[in-house]
Parts: sequence; structure tokens; C-alpha cells
Amino acid sequence: MPILIGNVLRSDNQYSVAIIGGGILGTAIAYFLSRASAPRMNSVVLLEQEENISMHASSRNTGKVHAPFLYDPVGKKLFAKAAFLGFKMLKDYCSLKSLPFKQDGVLEVAAHDSGLDRLHKYIEWGYSNGLKKDELQYLEKDEVQKLEPNVRCLAGIYCSKDASIDYGLVTRQILEDARKFGCNVFVGSKVVKISARNFYEGDTSNNVVTLHTSNGLTIKTNYVVNTAGGNAVDIAHGMKVATEYTDLHFRGEYWLAPEEYRDLTKMSIYSVPKYPQYPFLDPHWIIRVDGRREIGPNAVPVFSPYAYNLSTNFRYLIPKIFESSRTGARRIVFDKQFWRLVSSELKSSISKTAMINKARKFLPQIRPSSFVQRATAGIRSSLVDMQGKFVSDTKIVKNEYSLHVLNYNSPGATGALPIAAMISQEIMEKGLLYRSSYKYSDDKTPNWDTAALFEEITH
Ligand SMILES: Cc1cc2nc3c(=O)[nH]c(=O)nc-3n(C[C@H](O)[C@H](O)[C@H](O)COP(=O)(O)OP(=O)(O)OC[C@H]3O[C@@H](n4cnc5c(N)ncnc54)[C@H](O)[C@@H]3O)c2cc1C
Repeated sequence: MPILIGNVLRSDNQYSVAIIGGGILGTAIAYFLSRASAPRMNSVVLLEQEENISMHASSRNTGKVHAPFLYDPVGKKLFAKAAFLGFKMLKDYCSLKSLPFKQDGVLEVAAHDSGLDRLHKYIEWGYSNGLKKDELQYLEKDEVQKLEPNVRCLAGIYCSKDASIDYGLVTRQILEDARKFGCNVFVGSKVVKISARNFYEGDTSNNVVTLHTSNGLTIKTNYVVNTAGGNAVDIAHGMKVATEYTDLHFRGEYWLAPEEYRDLTKMSIYSVPKYPQYPFLDPHWIIRVDGRREIGPNAVPVFSPYAYNLSTNFRYLIPKIFESSRTGARRIVFDKQFWRLVSSELKSSISKTAMINKARKFLPQIRPSSFVQRATAGIRSSLVDMQGKFVSDTKIVKNEYSLHVLNYNSPGATGALPIAAMISQEIMEKGLLYRSSYKYSDDKTPNWDTAALFEEITH
């Protein structure tokens, strides 16, 4: 029996828009669409396979509101703009809802020579992505030492406009708001089959897409939004979309730091990745919004977006190898650098010392033996093209029945609100949903201007 959270199940199970995936992105799209079309109820449905929303990447991440200095304004344009806009939206939302949001800043350091050029590039990118001079500063070695005496490096960047947050809490709160505006939410409802047909070509309102779920639900809709995170590529392929891409999954593991390291630094410390074209970052020193200190994440290749443990991982080994052999991923077999990095990541998964030693390059005081507890791991799914190259920015792929968000990795949580606003505006413009002009007196649900956000993010 499908589990419906709130609102009334339409007897015909027919909705204007169906969103697959209740992570932060799908939930935020559900919020924008249902707010724009309320008080007309039941135009939007959100389907989530788990018994609750936000069980995967949206609750299993580092919890940083990333400042946009890390993103190339050309190669990662969408994420750069989304991260810039996301900061204020998240800050305002958390303040409105009394959720934790700590503007605690970040220090990015170069522990090796090759990192110095990248730091200069980050400064350039940061300013061109909208950060101000007093928000982002280059620091020489001695200036880093003054700011963070326990950190060792060649130089660094201090960014004051970086924050810590709990994205799981934010996602659940956004869902509450979406439900207030009439969004229907089914949990425990994995979409397993999709079929689509159109009676009059070019008129989206005549689309009939049928979604079947694992728990026997059949939903009919005019339009599907696929925000299924690590499953998004498979769902797109099921609708014959983005077939030129495949994905590879990487588990990011963390270790909880002991209490003795509580005062080691004032802020989180990131180090410049040596090979930024690959999805492998050196582990960071993280201060979470609730005060926990952690080291991570690494990026261990796994065979499924849900391979948090060994048995799930092995269950997907054969299907993933089979799938990869038919796609661009097979070309990675010849990429020696990739395999060198994979072997180092596997080592850091098996050996705690190997993992902690990566962070000792810039924080030499920490000792592997002091770390006794693993923290929550999360899985990123990276898109690979036909040439076997990792795609850098997020990819939004559409056909007449559907929109699919692929490669939605970091800073995906930071940028979720503006990207959801952009996607929602585009859907509203299709005329599929009744557009309400009703003004709400409730000042506890923000009324962001999706048209203005669309303009800002796309230009
Ligand atoms: C280790 C790690 C660290 C990160 N750190 C940060 C950070 O510090 N800052 C930041 O901004 N970003 C960070 N990110 C990225 C960020 O967490 C993601 O970009 C974001 O959470 C993705 O949200 P999502 O809604 O697209 O996906 P998800 O949260 O994965 O949600 C997708 C949902 O779809 C559901 N689903 C899948 N298939 C189906 C189906 N067939 N039917 C129904 N439901 C389905 C899943 O159960 C899931 O709930 C990190 C990610 C990881 C893994």
C-alpha cells in the first residue's frame, strides 16, 4: 500500500508534474511548483523510494555552504552561479525557520607546489563569481600561520563567506512547506517503470506519462522531473534520454575526530586537489555545524549509489561492470592516472592510517591512532561521456515529456534552491500548472522570485 504523507490522494492519480526523488533538489522543486500553483491542490506529486525523504546524498554530505571560488565561471558556470545565489537563500531560509546556519569561514591551503597556481586561479574565479575583496583573501605562508597556527602549508586562501549547515534538516523543512501548498508526497514508492505518449506533438499538456512504483502505485502525469540523485542516469536511460552518458559511483568516507582535537583549528581546512579533473579530493578537516570535527571524504569507487556496505557493493558488481563495458566508462580502463588515484583511494578506505596521513600533510599534529570511529559516508555519482571523460558541471537534459538532472554533485546542496527555482520557472512557463496570483500573508514561507532567479542564473 503506498504511503501518502499529507493532503488528499487524487482518485484518478493524475498530476501535472511528477518529481522522482526526495533529496534536497526534488524537494525544493516541489516547493517552488506547489507554491506557485497553490491554492490549487494536487498539481504536483513527489515520489521517493525510501521510507523517508533525504536518506542519501542530501543527508550524507560535508554540510558546507560552499563559496563559489572553487568553480570555474566558464566550465562550471551553473554551479558557480548557484553557489553564489544559494548562500543568501539558505541563510535567509534557516533564519526564518530557526535552523542552524553558521558563517564560519574556510581556509583552503596548498600543501604542495602545484597547488599554488590553483590558489591564484581560485582567487580569480572567486572574484569573477561575485565574491568581494574582503570576503576572499590570498594568504602567504606566515599569514596562514597567524590565522591557524597548527596548519602547515605553502600558502592559502581565507574565505569568510562560507558556512556550515545541516542539509538533512533543511530538506525536511522544505518538504513541510511544499506540503502546505498542496504537494502530494509518496514515500516507499520507487519508480520502476515509465512509459510516455503524446497525442498532439508539441503540446506538452497532452502528454501522458505513466509511472509505476514498486509498491503498486500508478501515477499519470503531463511531465516528469527526474531528480533521483545516484539513480538519475538509469531513470533517464529508461526514458531513452542521455544515452551517451553513463555514471560511476564514489563513496566518500569520514572519520570522527576525538575530543582532544576540538581546539586544533578555528575553521574547516580544505587542501587544493592535485588532480581536479578527477572526482578525487584530498580529505578535508571539517568542523560541522553541531561542532563535530571530522576528516574526509575520500572517493572510493563502488558499484552502486547505495553501496554503503560490502554486501550491497558486491551485489552490484556484475551489473555495473556489464553496463560500463557498453559505455564510455570502458575507456577509463586505459587511463593510468585514474587507476593510480583509485589505488590510493582504496588504500585510504582500507587503512585508517593512509586516510589520516592525507590530512597530516597540512595538519601534522593529528595521529591516526586517536581516530576510533567512522562517521556517515555518502556516495557521489559522476557522469562519464562517450570518450571516458568525467563531465565537470551538472547536466540538465530534456525531452518533451521530461527533465533530468544529472551529475548533481557538490556544491549541489549549496545550489539546490536557485537551481530548483530555475527549473520550476521553466516548467511554469510551459503552462502545465495553474499559476496562482494569490498573495500569502504567511511570512514563514519565503516567496522567492523564480523569474528573477531564472534570469540571474542563466545569464
Ligand atoms: C560525500 C559527499 C559530500 C558532499 N558535500 C557537500 C557539501 O559540503 N556541500 C554541498 O553543497 N554539497 C555537497 N555534496 C553534494 C550534495 O550532497 C548533493 O549534490 C545533493 O545532496 C544532491 O541532492 P539530490 O536531491 O540531487 O540527490 P539525493 O539527495 O541523492 O536524492 C535523490 C533521491 O532520489 C531517490 N530515488 C532514487 N531513485 C528513485 C526512484 N527510482 N524512485 C523514487 N525515488 C528515487 C533517492 O532515494 C534519494 O532520496 C556532497 C555529496 C557527498 C556524497
